[in-house]
Amino acid sequence: MMRIGHGMDVHRLVEGRKLILCGVEVPHTLGLLGHSDADVATHALMDAMLGAAALGDIGKLFPDTDERYRGADSIGLLGEVCALVRAHGFVLQNADITIVAQKPKLRPYIDAMRERLAGAMGVCAGQISVKATTTEALGFEGEQLGITAHAVCLLESV
Ligand code: MG
Repeated sequence: MMRIGHGMDVHRLVEGRKLILCGVEVPHTLGLLGHSDADVATHALMDAMLGAAALGDIGKLFPDTDERYRGADSIGLLGEVCALVRAHGFVLQNADITIVAQKPKLRPYIDAMRERLAGAMGVCAGQISVKATTTEALGFEGEQLGITAHAVCLLESV
């Protein structure tokens, strides 16, 4: 049986924080604010995985009221989510992530992001797609107030 999952996340852009997307630090004047490392794309991917397996969401698994997750490396949390999903009898077929950001240009980092996610998930980079788009300067992403990420994935029950 195939199961589809969808995840979406938003984090605010602020000064004095690193910009980490799909586990890759992207040089920029602004970074994402959050309890963890605020890796919005990895958060959306984890929610897609959990959604496909009907196992809740990352807010349930890793509450932001829990001090253990302050500054947490989201790639480490992704590994935990993958282990949980596998323990419930699912394997990932593919995942597709879209990052909505006006700046910076993400194309030079896309392949590194795919490799980083695939490594954490124990799959091939060919199973992981990462795309980036702007909003033509419209909305909060366009005004560079925040970054949105969407993810979908397909799990197969084994
Ligand atoms: Mg988040």
